[in-house]
Amino acid sequence: MNKREEVLKKVDVKENFEKINKDILQICKKSNRNFEDIKLIAVTKYVSDERVEQAQKVGLTNFAENRSVNYLERKAKFPNQIWHLIGSLQTRKVKDVIDKVDYFHALDRQSLAQEINKRAEKVIKCFVQVNVSGEESKHGLKVEEVVDFIKSLEKYPKIKVVGLMTMAPFVDDEETIRNCFKKLKELQDDIKNLELIYAPCEFLSMGMSNDYKIAIEEGATHIRIGTALVGAELK
Ligand SMILES: *Cc1c(COP(=O)(O)O)cnc(C)c1O
Repeated sequence: MNKREEVLKKVDVKENFEKINKDILQICKKSNRNFEDIKLIAVTKYVSDERVEQAQKVGLTNFAENRSVNYLERKAKFPNQIWHLIGSLQTRKVKDVIDKVDYFHALDRQSLAQEINKRAEKVIKCFVQVNVSGEESKHGLKVEEVVDFIKSLEKYPKIKVVGLMTMAPFVDDEETIRNCFKKLKELQDDIKNLELIYAPCEFLSMGMSNDYKIAIEEGATHIRIGTALVGAELK
């Protein structure tokens, strides 16, 4: 076995997939939720095409990349999957990528919404990204900005707000992480109560390799998992 094969072999996508599914099932039972309501998205930004193939083979159907260039490449190579663009998007890149996006998880500013509306030929399913934890380094709107921002999107017929997205802070303290997810859920309820036709906001994109179990307990509908599912080898 050469070096590359060794590295590839270390991660067992099938085993990881089964473990995560088992976790989802268990938490669903415990918290009275439907297994079908939770979408597992394989984040493939760290891995080679071989891994994507393995993931496809075990039955994964939702995939994500965080940069528009990689997104386009991957979607072209694996066109039959559902693809999520999960990273922040520069306004000038919108025109190249937007009509190929199945779900966009990082809508975080007015100028981006405007550009998407201008360039898109179809209605784009967007998650509004929220920086719940308030860390400087993170993208996303502040919690208190979100309602006004979403109200302001009414003038953009190409934008549909299907949900909210957040990344929890990278800390060990479970309560801090849980509070972050709880806050996003509360915000989702506020937005649902507005009953905006263009913003049904039925989904919550939250939970990654380290915190997906907490996220599901707190109402996640889309968990975005890279390392714990397909691994994190360098391409
Ligand atoms: C990389 C990334 C993930 C997956 O991270 P892991 O910790 O490897 O599971 C999820 N969401 C976003 C936005 C990412 O950039």
